[in-house]
Amino acid sequence: MKRTNTFAVRPLSDTGEQLLRDLLDASAALWNEVNYERLMRYNDEGGYENEDVWDADTGRLEGKYKGVLGASTAQQVIRKNSEAWRGFFENKKAYHDDSDTSVTEYPEPPGFWGNKDEGRKLHTVIRNTSYTVEWGERSRLEILVGSELKDRYDHTGRLRLEITGDPNWPEYEKQGRLDLWYDETDSTFRASQPVTVSDETRDTPLAEETAALDIGANNLVACTTTTGEQYLYEGRELFQRFRDTTREIARLQSKLEEGRYSSKRIRRLYQKRTRRRDHAQEALCRDLLERLYAEGVDTLYIGGLTDVLDTHWSVETNAKTHNFWAFKQFTERLVCTAEEYGITVEVRSEAWTSQECPQCGSTVRTTRHQDTLTCPCGFEGHADLTASETFLERHTEEAVRPMARPVRFEWDDHDWSESPRSHRPKEQRTDPSTVHRDGNVASGES
Ligand SMILES: [Zn+2]
Repeated sequence: MKRTNTFAVRPLSDTGEQLLRDLLDASAALWNEVNYERLMRYNDEGGYENEDVWDADTGRLEGKYKGVLGASTAQQVIRKNSEAWRGFFENKKAYHDDSDTSVTEYPEPPGFWGNKDEGRKLHTVIRNTSYTVEWGERSRLEILVGSELKDRYDHTGRLRLEITGDPNWPEYEKQGRLDLWYDETDSTFRASQPVTVSDETRDTPLAEETAALDIGANNLVACTTTTGEQYLYEGRELFQRFRDTTREIARLQSKLEEGRYSSKRIRRLYQKRTRRRDHAQEALCRDLLERLYAEGVDTLYIGGLTDVLDTHWSVETNAKTHNFWAFKQFTERLVCTAEEYGITVEVRSEAWTSQECPQCGSTVRTTRHQDTLTCPCGFEGHADLTASETFLERHTEEAVRPMARPVRFEWDDHDWSESPRSHRPKEQRTDPSTVHRDGNVASGES
């Protein structure tokens, strides 16, 4: 079973930090040089009109950087770039294949690590045999560095970094290629270590609860669990910003000279749009799965998203939402993150439940107005939460426990945090004693 440990690392000294920064920066420089060579060939520019991206002379670049990075790291950076290009060609093929609906956004060739204005993005990849991790009281990571860097900083041996926090998978049979980068959002060095663990060491949830997800644009995710919890991740603002950027891209495109299809500014807007979405999606997956794990959920159902879009949504909303969500990518991200927690994801593409009245079962009499689903039988409820609840009931044999008030989350560019609109009466109104016991009540109030 493949799993991933992600953790923060800290250099042990200022010199160590400088060395690490130089290593990551040189890796990014190598990536950019390789990528540039390939991009020129892809675009038929710079005298490479008749060459293929794979004709780029990466051996020369490996030679140029191996002194600083070490030969194995130079090779890994080049290999990672090759993988990115192969992925791009596969996506492009899927995009042009009408029978394949997995890629709906026109794929862009692999980008550069960083840009002129903000500098290079500090990032490297290290071969499985070129680093060691020790877990324990003082967990640490040791990585290989090139001889030129060692000379520059008068360093011997591997570079040692302190690991903070505990891994999800401390015991494993094999480790894969390590990614190591500097996260500017919180000024922290981070690493992700892919590992192969035996089936017995699977991180098993404590109970056998189930959850179901409804995915949309206004509410990114509505989730119901058999333990009676409901979570709502609000996406209006994020979706709005995505649309604004999309509009700005269209405006810039309309001003391009004839025969031109893109510009530096347009490409940067695309990248910004994608980065913002990816960041929010990744954080959402982690936040949600931590909660589900804590609830003892071991199976998570995701509905057939394409079905919903194809049948109930207008063509325009459809296309926009498709781009925004990059459903396939999001589902894959959910599956990967869920695996880390030992939670199984089941994708179900059967008839959708978003219009079904949970009270009388009718699918034709219900009306949806914004977030509210109403039915002539008297039912009225939050449309997306109701959908996830109906979906859950369809897939679980257990009784679904009575619902607590839903918890709503808002995205603030870094975290998903509980929205002020999220009222939980069992803590805030009906049982003030709980609040007192927790000691959270300001003394002036009593
Ligand atoms: Zn009804």
